[in-house]
Amino acid sequence: MTTFSPNGVRQLPPPINEPIRSYAPGTPERAALKARLKAMEGERPDIPVVIGGKEIRTGETGKAVSPHKHKHVTATYHKATAADVRAAIASGKKAWKEWSEWTWEERAAVFLKAADLLATTHRDTLNAATMLGQSKTAFQSEIDAACELIDFFRFNVAFARELCAEQPINGPGVWNQSEYRALEGFVYAVTPFNFTAIGGNLPTAPALMGNVVLWKPAASAMLSAWHTLQLLHEAGLPPGVINFLPGDPVMISEIALAHEDLAGVHFTGSTGVFNSMWSTIGQNMGKYRSYPRIVGETGGKDFILAHPSADVAALAVAIVRGAFEYQGQKCSAASRVYIPKSLWPEVKARVVAMMEEIKVGDVNDFTNFMGAVIDQRAFDRISGYLKTAKKSAKIIAGGKADGTTGWFIDPTLVQTTDPQYQLMCEEIFGPVLTAFVYDDAKWGETLKLVDRTSPYALTGAVFSQDRAAVREAHAALRHAAGNFYVNDKCTGAVVGQQPFGGARASGTNDKAGSKLNLTRWVSARTVKETFAPPTDFRYPFMGAK
Ligand code: NAD
Repeated sequence: MTTFSPNGVRQLPPPINEPIRSYAPGTPERAALKARLKAMEGERPDIPVVIGGKEIRTGETGKAVSPHKHKHVTATYHKATAADVRAAIASGKKAWKEWSEWTWEERAAVFLKAADLLATTHRDTLNAATMLGQSKTAFQSEIDAACELIDFFRFNVAFARELCAEQPINGPGVWNQSEYRALEGFVYAVTPFNFTAIGGNLPTAPALMGNVVLWKPAASAMLSAWHTLQLLHEAGLPPGVINFLPGDPVMISEIALAHEDLAGVHFTGSTGVFNSMWSTIGQNMGKYRSYPRIVGETGGKDFILAHPSADVAALAVAIVRGAFEYQGQKCSAASRVYIPKSLWPEVKARVVAMMEEIKVGDVNDFTNFMGAVIDQRAFDRISGYLKTAKKSAKIIAGGKADGTTGWFIDPTLVQTTDPQYQLMCEEIFGPVLTAFVYDDAKWGETLKLVDRTSPYALTGAVFSQDRAAVREAHAALRHAAGNFYVNDKCTGAVVGQQPFGGARASGTNDKAGSKLNLTRWVSARTVKETFAPPTDFRYPFMGAK
């Protein structure tokens, strides 16, 4: 095969955040999306394992369903066998030889094309798949499956260029270079159910930097994962660069994490699963050819803290949107709020009034603000928290769960007088928000409380119109959140604008969709070339006179 080595320093289209479509009544995008939703309801793809571009149907299948209509099967998918996992690793190794040698511009072209396809011909498909498969509303889908994923593709390319442009200085007669090599081996990408964009980003960010990837998608986001894979293939991703392995996460991980060629893990999901993967890697340390890069973005217990000077109207809207959009299943969702006594009656009244207006139901009905939670397990777990709250706290609004046709849980506001109450500390991952009302005079103490209450440090927000209080919160909560918001809700980070990730038990904080993240997927080689090397071993200081 001839190797194409372009002569030219190429420019990139400047990355711009993809404009969000409104889907308001009467817009063409609304009509197109509704038509795609209708058509997709009649489809039932038979999703294969994909290795080296070949579709493999193992016959051992699982069903993907619509959370808001759980009798409706959206797809069947074939589960990878242990032999498939080994074959995928071997196929990746073969693909690596060529893919890792491509220039970054050639690889970038694949993802720039994927962004443009997604912005145009594939937009309705990925949005509809996310709505039907993960129960997102049209708007929640648009900001995730369309805009965020397009942004990941475009911005990562721009960050890759910046990274490759970082070159060392040169001394006289010396030419120094940094070469950003792919890791030697494969990257194992394990993706969560709650963001189609994360499903797309975790395998593609390492692939952009020349790596080959085993992608283990979440069972409950199978439909959107499948359409994402097809998008990438249409954009020109060569076979074997990303191998697709639906199936048993424990079995697949056991084989992938024990393989000598494991070069990295790109994970998003719960803290417990990430911890178990990290310890498995620790136990396998003697097996690897290189030190695997371990990148994981995990759980959260995100807060909104109001100062007595807060603008109550803005605060109440941030609480409702931050806690209940996508059924509270964003890692950044507000799940504990701290409100001063002086503001509580008005905050409560406003929040409850909005909650009473919120409609929960089938996302095909665009008047609904919320759909269903992802699966029976989530429904049972969240219902358990509601039972606890009924027993040992006060439910101010909501509290109902009905799993008859879909896994629906009403937006729920709980009030506790104990700041260490279970629902103030644990990640619930559902539409349940707990409020603690503090004495206005105890602002300083409350700052400490917010910092210490949970092991996580993902997102948090402070509402205050008093600049001095904002400064105090900045300092006191410096390590309490990787994404900190002032007078804004704690969700909705935009690629390129608010690089996303948390610290403490919330992950390695490698900021998805940023240069920091891409640096984890390269192994730099430094090359020094000397134009006129010395020909005499003696130094001048050795002269006799
Ligand atoms: P999860 O941990 O249940 O699953 C994540 C992935 O891990 C899935 O692909 C799953 O199949 C796989 N998995 C499950 N058990 C495994 C095992 N034993 N070994 C290896 N892999 C395994 O998480 P989820 O329910 O999909 O997502 C919700 C969680 O993700 C929440 O905790 C949320 O906070 C977190 N999250 C974090 C961020 C972030 O940026 N910090 C973003 C999104 C979601």
